[in-house]
Amino acid sequence: MYDFTIIGGGILGLSTAMQLIERFPEKKIVLLEKEAGPAHHQTGHNSGVIHAGVYYAPGSLKARFCLEGNRATREFCERHAIDFEICGKLLVATNGQEMQRMEALWERTGANGLEREWLSAGALKEREPNITGIGGIFVPSSGIVNYARVAEAMATEFERHGGQIRYGHDVTALAERTGEVIVTTSQGEFNSRYLVSCSGLMADRVVRLLGRNPGFTICPFRGEYYRLPDRHSGIVNHLIYPIPDPSMPFLGVHLTRMIDGSVTVGPNAVLALKREGYRKSDFSLSDMARMFTNPGVLKVLGRNLKPGLAEMKNSLFKKGYLAEVRKYCPSLTLEDLEPWPAGVRAQAVSRDGRLIDDFLFVNTRRTVNVCNAPSPAATSAIPIGHHILEKVSEMVQST
Ligand SMILES: Cc1cc2nc3c(=O)[nH]c(=O)nc-3n(C[C@H](O)[C@H](O)[C@H](O)COP(=O)(O)OP(=O)(O)OC[C@H]3O[C@@H](n4cnc5c(N)ncnc54)[C@H](O)[C@@H]3O)c2cc1C
Repeated sequence: MYDFTIIGGGILGLSTAMQLIERFPEKKIVLLEKEAGPAHHQTGHNSGVIHAGVYYAPGSLKARFCLEGNRATREFCERHAIDFEICGKLLVATNGQEMQRMEALWERTGANGLEREWLSAGALKEREPNITGIGGIFVPSSGIVNYARVAEAMATEFERHGGQIRYGHDVTALAERTGEVIVTTSQGEFNSRYLVSCSGLMADRVVRLLGRNPGFTICPFRGEYYRLPDRHSGIVNHLIYPIPDPSMPFLGVHLTRMIDGSVTVGPNAVLALKREGYRKSDFSLSDMARMFTNPGVLKVLGRNLKPGLAEMKNSLFKKGYLAEVRKYCPSLTLEDLEPWPAGVRAQAVSRDGRLIDDFLFVNTRRTVNVCNAPSPAATSAIPIGHHILEKVSEMVQST
């Protein structure tokens, strides 16, 4: 009998596992991951940004955990000799409407307690000669890291303290009974007193395995990137972001300096026709059937038809994609956009057709389930793991 079982070898499962074994060193803990190693999905396919907490509604879990996570991620990287850089981020307005939205973001960054600087068009040019805009906000505490490296270090810590990781174990059934949870995998059964699920793109399916109606469905949004050729590695000094449309949960195509010295462009946000579909041609008939018969998803699609079609067009035609980035970096050309692997975001959609904005957890008597953990969840992985630890500790005391 295990004391705790964790589903998911992404950064959230590993952060939780590491903190659980530190808090309960005498307990028997196992992490189950269906892939052959850690970080195969969102954690290994993202922009690698240590977010500062610019966009999130004051008082939300995202705002709180991102701020704490920014500091905790840096400390973790320092302790484990993982390369990271606090290079700062520039939000750039290119027209009057974006300037208005930027003013709202200025207020929000203030409410979220961030250090920031308002830049005129001239000051922007001085900081970033290759970037054009009518103004900007500079946020010094944003940084970059490779989150797959962070996740690997968490896995090493967990195992060093006696935790077990079983790769290649796909969880296929769950049964919550008095006193235990029975976890069936592709390679046998595990009995456990408590269960934590951090299963990313499969979050709703895991809740269903528990016999619960999750009340939301995961919608997969592919984020496609390009990489700039090496000659452009010095094109920007900071991370460059457009001013996002506040009605959309995604941040818009940005220029990201990566920790390996390269610069990526992206990601866009295209509805994926398969949960773990990284290529444009990937589709799954069963995933599509479930998605396109879900009333919540249909409402979201209906409401966002225009921006959704624009994203699809820019995904199919590189020229449209280039136009997005040329709004603030006009010197880039089609030849500068070299292929780079995509990521797929797990975005929860409620039954009544809302893109759920904040982090979401669904708990039962013996289980904690992470149900919505899109960006900035990699930045926030350590506080999210801590939050789960607190929930599990309460369960241990009350059962
Ligand atoms: C394109 C993109 C860009 C992003 N950029 C950033 C960024 O710059 N900064 C930031 O902070 N965040 C960013 N994010 C968000 C961040 O990557 C995710 O929020 C974070 O990685 C979520 O971690 P996770 O552990 O929940 O999910 P995942 O990394 O997806 O891990 C879930 C794991 O669960 C496993 N699993 C699922 N079902 C089962 C099962 N039945 N049995 C066994 N195992 C199972 C999966 O195989 C997977 O390994 C980005 C995300 C994307 C996609």
